[in-house]
Amino acid sequence: MELERQVEELRSLLGEAAVLTGAEDLSRYTRPYRGVPGPTPAVVRPADVDQVRAVVGWARRHRVRLLPQGANSGLAGASTPPPAGAHPAPVVVSLERLDREPMVDPVDRTAEVAAGTRLSRLNTAALPHGLVLPIDLGADPSLGGMVATNTGGARMLRHGDMRRHVLGVRAVTADADCTVVDERTTLRKHNVGPSLTQWFIGTSGAFGIVTDVVVDLGRLPAARACAWMIPRDAVAALETILLLERSYGRWLEAFEVLSAEALEAAVREVGDRGPFGSRPSPWLSALVEFSGGEESEEVLVGALDDLTSRSLISDAVVVPPVRAWAYRHAVTDGLQRSGTVLGFDVSVPRSHLPPFRDRVREAVASVAPQAIVADFGHWGDGGIHCNVVLPAGVTVEAPIRVALDEAVIGTACAEFGGSFSAEHGVGPRNAGWWTSTTGIGTRSLVAGLKQVFDPLGVLGHPGLPYRWEPGSS
Ligand SMILES: Cc1cc2nc3c(=O)[nH]c(=O)nc-3n(C[C@H](O)[C@H](O)[C@H](O)COP(=O)(O)OP(=O)(O)OC[C@H]3O[C@@H](n4cnc5c(N)ncnc54)[C@H](O)[C@@H]3O)c2cc1C
Repeated sequence: MELERQVEELRSLLGEAAVLTGAEDLSRYTRPYRGVPGPTPAVVRPADVDQVRAVVGWARRHRVRLLPQGANSGLAGASTPPPAGAHPAPVVVSLERLDREPMVDPVDRTAEVAAGTRLSRLNTAALPHGLVLPIDLGADPSLGGMVATNTGGARMLRHGDMRRHVLGVRAVTADADCTVVDERTTLRKHNVGPSLTQWFIGTSGAFGIVTDVVVDLGRLPAARACAWMIPRDAVAALETILLLERSYGRWLEAFEVLSAEALEAAVREVGDRGPFGSRPSPWLSALVEFSGGEESEEVLVGALDDLTSRSLISDAVVVPPVRAWAYRHAVTDGLQRSGTVLGFDVSVPRSHLPPFRDRVREAVASVAPQAIVADFGHWGDGGIHCNVVLPAGVTVEAPIRVALDEAVIGTACAEFGGSFSAEHGVGPRNAGWWTSTTGIGTRSLVAGLKQVFDPLGVLGHPGLPYRWEPGSS
């Protein structure tokens, strides 16, 4: 009854259309990409920064937790409510109505974008100016979600992650004043002390709801050229990256490596014979992209000859860029349809990728012999998605899940000096690893800052780890 009254209050604040409560309306916002949907009493869709502030004020008054959501493509489990019973159900704050034509400034090479606007809309607006936000991935996220997760993507090797492109944000915090932090700027040189903007990047909405983002744009290259290649082995794949960087550095845009299991899933998803035609999927394959002037393809063909003559690769095919990337971008969805997927987004220093890969396969096989490790990822920057695929319909019991986490994440962090989250950010799926791999001093300072930005703990997924729990050590 009380909850109903509270939701009515939200309606009176924002208008009828802004608050959804019908089961069918809610399902789109409560279903994660992977995993079990969780309940929410309502989805609220503010249309501007004042409405976001009103929602945060409402949440503080009633001690209701708010779960910000952009395009709901996140893979750390932090954009949808937790399963029933785990925590009190949060209200989802969908930022989808914060969506307007991006303000592209071709002279400053920047864009100011509302948080709910999708990456594709920004890039459509930037295209006539020969500009692009060069973060490339198989989903179409919102700009606010990209800030909150610090998206990496396949071109990170050359262009960096979202943090490198964010010039400033506007965000609403949950302190007593519901402060609007407004650090929107198109300045690149702005060395004026603490930047609160950094507190909203890669922090999963736990410190504030981002409403606007100003980004630095890159120039669209005149041409791109792609090839799929078969490295001699994993060490040769690494040597290939080094040679390309050394001799063709200004052309190299991306270098992605796929296991046979990942490529096969992608080819099934695309529905043709794959980049290598009728030949069986190689044990390891790589996608390379060069970009620059019109001669990009010519330079790429020369590089492939170079790699072949050094026996680093056994075969290569030049594939038109759209088709070449279609396979890479189909891996995640393709695996999703292949069985029960446990996603692991880890990174290690790239020099360790070949032995890391072998170790993970051994460790996973000892826990779940029926599991397939379909690893793929951004080898150029050390990122590797070690996705474990089990037969469809298999329920992964908690002890097996813990042992698989240890086999992949534990191996990455403890044996290879890696990270439990390469690019998908922190969420309930990996929150425990944040706690166990972060020093007590840092955790205590983060908890203090959480107290400043959100003293009542109403912001972000309830499974996030940043609050100081009694008895923490
Ligand atoms: C097929 C596929 C491929 C992918 N490939 C990549 C890849 O290559 N690289 C990569 O980095 N990621 C990848 N992802 C993951 C995902 O697309 C990114 O994490 C993306 O940035 C999430 O944006 P979103 O708008 O979907 O955010 P959501 O999923 O809606 O939310 C993600 C997190 O951000 C918070 N949040 C969302 N909006 C806001 C806001 N306005 N203010 C505050 N907090 C907010 C949420 O609470 C949640 O914690 C992929 C996902 C899929 C499905």
